[in-house]
Amino acid sequence: MPRLKLLRTLDDLPIIKGFRPIWMKANLRQAVIMNLEEYEALRLIDYEKQIHEQAALAMNVSRPTFTRIYETARQKLSTALVEGRSLLIEGGNVTIQESHWYCENCFHKFSAAIASEPEKMICPKCNSKQLLNLNNCFLSGCRRCRRCK
Ligand SMILES: [Zn+2]
Ligand SMILES: [Zn+2]
Repeated sequence: MPRLKLLRTLDDLPIIKGFRPIWMKANLRQAVIMNLEEYEALRLIDYEKQIHEQAALAMNVSRPTFTRIYETARQKLSTALVEGRSLLIEGGNVTIQESHWYCENCFHKFSAAIASEPEKMICPKCNSKQLLNLNNCFLSGCRRCRRCK
């Protein structure tokens, strides 16, 4: 049976792109990749202490689908911990409510409505145009920009 593709809307992005292990050489090629819906499931259940029904509703998925996402997320988190691997949060079948930016000039982080002309965005604090679109860093699995390297 083909699985129905649903888009879950995220209000916000994680404040970090992932973790690097202490004592181990951080090898991003062997990193555990957690996608944004798995991150969101962990956040709703383990951080916000929501019940599964509530969280499934918030993510617009059925209860069994939610449980599957959540179990996968926990499996990945424990794999990273036990095997001493880096953890990267990226990708996933989600839409992000706003566009999130990081200024490379003054390190200010801000969000804005999704701009029709993102290349014209400027930092509200310092007016710099050296901005990184964090939505892209999360959704496209960026390893290239100065922040994700
Ligand atoms: Zn700035
Ligand atoms: Zn990036």
